[in-house]
Amino acid sequence: MPRFALLAAGASIFLCPATPLLRAAGNPPSGELTRPAVAVFMDFDSKPGDNSVAVMKREAEDLLKASGIALDWKMVTGNQGKESSRGLVVVKFRGRCRVEGWPQPGEDEPPERTQTLGFTRVLDGHVMPFSEIECDQIRKSLSYLASDSTPMERQRAFGLAMGRVVAHELYHMLARTTSHAEEGLAKATQSLRDLAGNSAMAFRETDSRAIGQAFIKQ
Ligand SMILES: [Zn+2]
Repeated sequence: MPRFALLAAGASIFLCPATPLLRAAGNPPSGELTRPAVAVFMDFDSKPGDNSVAVMKREAEDLLKASGIALDWKMVTGNQGKESSRGLVVVKFRGRCRVEGWPQPGEDEPPERTQTLGFTRVLDGHVMPFSEIECDQIRKSLSYLASDSTPMERQRAFGLAMGRVVAHELYHMLARTTSHAEEGLAKATQSLRDLAGNSAMAFRETDSRAIGQAFIKQ
């Protein structure tokens, strides 16, 4: 099955395309009346710390805001499938997604070559609503933090990086495109340092518009 990968090199990463949204019939969930919401089902090999997850969700939500789409986060595990959503995607987080308080072996060196950070599956030319995120590679972004960074700062940086990688894959899945932009978060290559950094990242206006329009047309 072809797939598009998000890669990371010493200083640069590629984000990969995703898929078309899987449609689901039903009314929008209660409480989400102003913006259409897509259900994001998360599946972790190893669950990150609560702070990392909270930062990841907030960052991805903020990045998608300009598209007019809200995110409704859910866990695959234990889900009864009783709730309906206008659209849904599944994001599988592979590897060790928990950030320890201090650098662990392998985290203190930035990657020397391009690495895959995430990818979205494509089947028969159609982007599928299924992405995988590589936690072990994203954790390498922590090598750019100051050596005296606190456990909270490490969790926050990891959460920011995860949120941005997830947002990139959502761009592919929701806009149903395998193409990349020249600038912004829809670009194929990003700096690993930037992904975990405090400077704001954003989609270009045209990419946000593409996400919203493709989703609403479903
Ligand atoms: Zn991409």
